[in-house]
Amino acid sequence: MPENTSSNANVQSFDAEAASTAYRSALAVIEAVEPNIAGAIRSELADQRASLKLIASENYASPAVLLTMGNWLSDKYAEGTIGHRFYAACQNIDTVEQLAADHAKALFNAPHAYVQPHSGIDANLVAFWAILAQRIESPALAEAGAKHVNDLSEDDWQSLRKALGDQRALGMSLDAGGHLTHGFRPNISGKMFHQSSYGTDPETGLLDYDAVRATAREFKPLILIAGYSAYPRRVNFAKMREIADEVGATLMVDMAHFAGLVAGKVFTGDFDPVPHAHVTTTTNHKSLRGPRGGMVLCQPEYADAVDRGCPMVLGGPLGQVMAAKAVALAEARQPAFHTYAQNVADNATALADGLSRRGVNLVTGGTDNHLCLLDVTSFGLTGRQAESALLDSGIVTNRNAIPRDPNGAWYTSGVRIGTPALTSRGFDAAEFDRVAELIVDVLSATTPTAAPSGGTSKAKYVLAEGVAAKTHAAADELLDANPLYPGLDLN
Ligand SMILES: *Cc1c(COP(=O)(O)O)cnc(C)c1O
Repeated sequence: MPENTSSNANVQSFDAEAASTAYRSALAVIEAVEPNIAGAIRSELADQRASLKLIASENYASPAVLLTMGNWLSDKYAEGTIGHRFYAACQNIDTVEQLAADHAKALFNAPHAYVQPHSGIDANLVAFWAILAQRIESPALAEAGAKHVNDLSEDDWQSLRKALGDQRALGMSLDAGGHLTHGFRPNISGKMFHQSSYGTDPETGLLDYDAVRATAREFKPLILIAGYSAYPRRVNFAKMREIADEVGATLMVDMAHFAGLVAGKVFTGDFDPVPHAHVTTTTNHKSLRGPRGGMVLCQPEYADAVDRGCPMVLGGPLGQVMAAKAVALAEARQPAFHTYAQNVADNATALADGLSRRGVNLVTGGTDNHLCLLDVTSFGLTGRQAESALLDSGIVTNRNAIPRDPNGAWYTSGVRIGTPALTSRGFDAAEFDRVAELIVDVLSATTPTAAPSGGTSKAKYVLAEGVAAKTHAAADELLDANPLYPGLDLN
């Protein structure tokens, strides 16, 4: 086994021979039943290896994490909590869930961790309903002298249902970088809560805490939500907690995007949400580099309510995924993950500098996390045209609204790019500067047109001849210098 000296230990440095044998054998077994699926698995690795992946929410999990997900832990029903299940014979799931929770608590210095949520949206649903249970349902039960909702009279039950559906949540607006699950109408959270949002300063693009405070005082939310998926700056959670306390709100922080920077101690003190928030939610698969899934961390007063996530909003937990969470969290507790997280942030700075230096407008003028948000209007493009032209050139990004976006949420005026995935491959600051150069080359060579371009894109633009091929070649050079899962061979 190679030594874990690389900052990306476990993704770049693993026993390649053992992993290759494991995958070859597994694919042979799958091939015998449904060869098309084995083919899709092979293609996905090839595609991931061949693309310059700048999608800020994606990463590469280690072979250990990936292998942990394919086994018998998947076959077990284990509704309930550790040591307290509605099914018999859950001892191995208990072991797995306990280990994942212990690693999460140690990694984030959290009083309590709930590792069952199947995704980020599920973690947020668990958090919302735990807060509603603690702050609305418990007092109602106490007042009625009931221990359980089943003991309430029909009248008391109906008034509790109305109260649960009549609460307020305040979160970051979508175009400032907030997330759909923070109370927006297309998501169930928007149907649950009377929602209002806070934006960013029109001049600086930065979060204006005085404006958040003013809105919170007026709106009086039950829950103040902080966290984002497209805001390129860190947030002062101590200040957010002060505001929450002032208006009697529960502070919930959704660190889905930047959990890796918290785990790797890039965000500490006022910028670490865990000690300040009553409830913190996250995904496992973004900058944290684990399996697809979610978690809820919380202060002790919310622990019992959070642990009722299943059956409140979740079905039976995914034992194999909780096991993979434990493996990934164990990886994140190694010193090498600190280096990784610091490299993610340093690379984002290099990328932002490289773009700014070449004349690109960045929302907020730069970054202090893992992502940059480009305003592509200066190129005369919509986000959709920019995203498509970049994809034609082998650069995978996603279009994203910018604050007060003139082109709306579908076409948008922005492109969001992040460094977690390519940093896992080993890209350094100089290579990210080269990536910035390639992005600018493509956007400068793209012209909007009246009709859609060729290929599969319906976006209307034309890319100057030769630019796509030239960029593809340059991207391949960078990718070849930083192989994904070096030595892993499926053939
Ligand atoms: C990605 C994300 C989610 C949703 O995560 P899923 O696992 O896709 O459900 C929730 N909140 C934020 C802030 C996110 O960035």
